[in-house]
Amino acid sequence: MTRILVIEDEPQMLLGLRDNLELEGYEVQTAADGEEGLAKAASFGPDLVILDVMLPRKNGFDVCRELRARSNTTPVVMLTARSAETDKVLGLELGADDYVTKPFSITELLARVRAVLRRTASPKPAAEVVQIGDIEVDLTLHQARRDKARVDFTAREFELLRYFVQHTGQVVTREQILNEVWGYEEFPTTRTIDNFVAKLRQKIERSPHAPEHILTIHGSGYKFVG
Ligand code: CA
Repeated sequence: MTRILVIEDEPQMLLGLRDNLELEGYEVQTAADGEEGLAKAASFGPDLVILDVMLPRKNGFDVCRELRARSNTTPVVMLTARSAETDKVLGLELGADDYVTKPFSITELLARVRAVLRRTASPKPAAEVVQIGDIEVDLTLHQARRDKARVDFTAREFELLRYFVQHTGQVVTREQILNEVWGYEEFPTTRTIDNFVAKLRQKIERSPHAPEHILTIHGSGYKFVG
């Protein structure tokens, strides 16, 4: 569950933010001043901090500065009370990821929160194990099995298979395959591609002459179907 820490001293605002964020499915903790906010940023380990600028016991700028000084890279969305350009610029310079100017609509804030979380999320690893017909292929371990038996691929065959899987359902030309799988520094002919495709079909297709997975698209190239 994505965790959000809200640091805000106005009780009504704090309650409203908490309720709306929880409705969106976030796990929320709150702090009512800057010191408490810093402590909770450490103990709660949030995925994002919503940070008011005007706070007792340590203002939002100082909180943000201290977070970054502690090498805490948690994304921060600042709530600036004034529309003064200097507040926004200062917040961003101190390491905030975005800001929303009060008064704001909750819809706008939620959209900003989602956008910042999306932007800062670590990329999800691609699917690592894929099923192709009766073969199970582990794209990271470079292993494939049919029932319990191993199916062996050369490194290049595996790269080609991975390329097909990553472009499932798309028509890819031989030139694209050459550039992406072989790279510009090598100069195989398009005929090489066809030979490799034939070898892949021998290994993954039930009947290589009537392929169900690596289809030839005449005049274009190939299309992989999972
Ligand atoms: Ca305030």
